[in-house]
Amino acid sequence: MKHPCPVCGFKGLTEPPYDHEGHQSHEICPCCGFQFGFDEYEMQHEDGSYLEPAESIIAYRKQWLADGAVMFSPDCCPAQQQKVKKVLKHVLTEQLKRINADLPS
Ligand SMILES: [Zn+2]
Repeated sequence: MKHPCPVCGFKGLTEPPYDHEGHQSHEICPCCGFQFGFDEYEMQHEDGSYLEPAESIIAYRKQWLADGAVMFSPDCCPAQQQKVKKVLKHVLTEQLKRINADLPS
């Protein structure tokens, strides 16, 4: 069974990103490139302080979308869902709907 990514909504994670005890899988999402258990602690505010994990997920998603939703590992994602290594817009809309996130207008 595949699990959806809480950052981009891509349903292709081999393990749940967080188990019931909150342990991270350390898997890297092939779609957005977020690594669970790592990237939550890497995002910084402009003043150099670190974001909370929940904020990091949102900030990472925003950045990823702003950069054009480039697939981290296109070989691991279905070919019909991408165009020049970017997630197709209708696919992206579906993915984000899955995690109740919006596409930036
Ligand atoms: Zn992802």
